[in-house]
Amino acid sequence: MRINNDTIVKDSDPVLREKSVKVSVPLNQEDHNLIMNMLQYVRDSIDPQKAEEQNLRPAVGISAVQIGVLKQLVAISIDYGEDGKSEYVLANPRIVSHSAQNAYLKNGEGCLSVLDEHEGHVFRHARVSVKAFDVLQNCEVLIKAEGYEAIVLQHEIDHLSGHLFYDHIDPQNPWKEDSEALVIE
Ligand SMILES: [Zn+2]
Repeated sequence: MRINNDTIVKDSDPVLREKSVKVSVPLNQEDHNLIMNMLQYVRDSIDPQKAEEQNLRPAVGISAVQIGVLKQLVAISIDYGEDGKSEYVLANPRIVSHSAQNAYLKNGEGCLSVLDEHEGHVFRHARVSVKAFDVLQNCEVLIKAEGYEAIVLQHEIDHLSGHLFYDHIDPQNPWKEDSEALVIE
């Protein structure tokens, strides 16, 4: 199966509001193939040439529900250029603890499934601890993430319970600020 911008489920589709179910781990072949395809999408999407040729929208993460599969699978690839990249290929991820401090991206968030503009600050936790089955390491892990990576993890984990980023934007005051929050450029 090839994932591209045409096969990604858009937010007019009610499936995006459904809850994804846990998968059994280690992954079976079908689930393993699926999550590796998801990872490949994210990796390729930031390559301008591949994105153009294969109709990919740039992204740092994707969840299985976004290709219409209600399973708790998430793939994230954040490229730091010369500093390498940070990847999370996770089954059944769940947040087990978080900071009291909030964080948000200064310019708001976007999503492969959301084509309309939804401007505003998306308040999330500045730090999270996530338990998951790590597909690349083939074992259960406890991830401690902060800042941008914590935000990306929360965005993707939100998809597994049917939440979209703009649910967190205050409609009365979309660019509301929080002086205590970590603001990420
Ligand atoms: Zn998304």
